Amino acid sequence: MSKIFEITHRDAAARIGKLVLEKELSTPAIINLHEKDCQIIDSGSVWKRAVPVEQNDNKIIILPHKSLPLQTREEIIIELKVPLDNSNRAHTGLVVHPFTTEYPESELYVLGTAKQLENRARELVDSIIRLKENTRADSLLYAPALAAPENLALLLYLGVDLVDETFPIIKGYQDIYLTNSGEFHLDRLHEFPCACTVCSSKTPQEMLKLPKKERAQLMAQHNSLKLGEELRSVREHIRSGSLREYVERQCRARPWLTAMLRLMDMQYDFLEKRTTILRSNTLYANTPESLNRVEIRRFAQRVLERYTAPDLDTLVLLPCSAKKPYSVSLSHQKFINALGQNRKFVHEVIITSPMGVVPRELEVMYPAAHYDTPVTGHWDLEERAWVGGCLRQYLQKNKYRNIIAHVHGAYREICESVADELGLEFIYTADTGVTSHESLKSLELAVSGLELKNTRKRTAEQGKLDMMRATADYQFGKGASDLLVPDDAIIRAPFPKFQLFAGKQLATLIPQYGALALTVDGGIRLRDHPYYRVTIGDFIPHSSILAPGIMDADPQIRPNDEVIVIGERFLGVGRANMSGWEMKGCGKGMAVELRHSTKIDK
Ligand SMILES: [Zn+2]
Repeated sequence: MSKIFEITHRDAAARIGKLVLEKELSTPAIINLHEKDCQIIDSGSVWKRAVPVEQNDNKIIILPHKSLPLQTREEIIIELKVPLDNSNRAHTGLVVHPFTTEYPESELYVLGTAKQLENRARELVDSIIRLKENTRADSLLYAPALAAPENLALLLYLGVDLVDETFPIIKGYQDIYLTNSGEFHLDRLHEFPCACTVCSSKTPQEMLKLPKKERAQLMAQHNSLKLGEELRSVREHIRSGSLREYVERQCRARPWLTAMLRLMDMQYDFLEKRTTILRSNTLYANTPESLNRVEIRRFAQRVLERYTAPDLDTLVLLPCSAKKPYSVSLSHQKFINALGQNRKFVHEVIITSPMGVVPRELEVMYPAAHYDTPVTGHWDLEERAWVGGCLRQYLQKNKYRNIIAHVHGAYREICESVADELGLEFIYTADTGVTSHESLKSLELAVSGLELKNTRKRTAEQGKLDMMRATADYQFGKGASDLLVPDDAIIRAPFPKFQLFAGKQLATLIPQYGALALTVDGGIRLRDHPYYRVTIGDFIPHSSILAPGIMDADPQIRPNDEVIVIGERFLGVGRANMSGWEMKGCGKGMAVELRHSTKIDK
């Protein structure tokens, strides 16, 4: 476990951290190993007779290494391995070949020959994911000579912590001008788009007339400034939870960067186990890659695996609305009015891109109430396939006697194709658009008379409890609702700030995220639930729990998950600050922020 590196913010594999040695270094960072006060010292390559590095327990010493070309066979990598001697070093760094499969324990890994991975999306993604999955959560990763303003966001998204200015400097000496949207040859530029001191003091034409050395230094200076600017920008996106949106935009700078993002998305588990469960900011689904982002896939998966539909015979499928949660939108208000008294007989499910299907009970849950997407009325084939697939799987699992589809246009085409595939009969009620007078009348007509048909119903109060049950199962896994929401529970406070009571208050629905925050009594009810538990030793924590104090944690826990903390004489509820697997592997950092706690008997 690292005693020198603490991760403070996480967004997918990207993280902000503090490396504390002689001085404090905030990561991700641009480092320069040649600088005297750099916190990391390179022992150098054993090919050149390396100068022995002095003992320094306050710095990370990169152990002597052999640089091998990218295309080196694995047996040669193993044969030429430098014998590991870290016995007299307090903190070590190791140079690893991108194709290695052996990762001796270390605080820092340096991706050898990283520069040669430029334009090789698959090899870069595979080598970093393999390294990250086989090393401790709080070890650092340095990718030398690879970072450019255009690729930095993707490198950090993949989990790189340290980069350098080698690439921008080399490009400067080649008269190549870097920006985060690509590179330009100096002699092709008519004006400098940047306003740094270099660019605002000269025109490209004036720059070309300078002596080569002076010009190269100025170009390198601009290029390095752009890398620094991009780094600060990415750090802000990590802090604000918007890195994914930024990466989906930034990967367009080059095809190999877009390929990198698509390849990362194929490694769903790698990203999922690092992606926060809740955010309060808007999820912008602007690109085809948005359909593959973890938050969207995870929601769809949980609707299938953790959600149980209420015992009702009639399903009403509705289109999504721009305003969220859907039920407060003007169109949904009209649908609800049309359902009228008969609303108690029907189960409402919303069809939407990119979410797939959203049961009414989960409409406030992140990201169902938090996404925004361009609406043109045209759905592309991938969207149709994804949403159709979600609806088909939902209907294969949840059976209804009647299905009314109050949908139009592409939504209807999707419904027709799913109905056809499953051999189901849908009643369509929105021939003339979903909010037209005729369509609303036809919806009203379709649900009238359900009472006479002896179908099951639920009261408005039961509907509210179903929402709490669906939310509990979504957050804590199937079975949690049986423990947390008894039949005699009641809901207080207006939608969506529901408070759950059964004698005492058990939980509150936080509208910002659509998730439940537990009280101590809620935590006690979930005491025997096997999931989302964090076990600590025999001590009484106060406001937070640090990672080293944790004995066990459910590996399903993700940042921002609500968790139940159990100690020998302690029970607490709070919000996770890191994933469960990280809690067990990190040597520093706040793991759980406690909200309420109590002493309990052994
Ligand atoms: Zn500039």
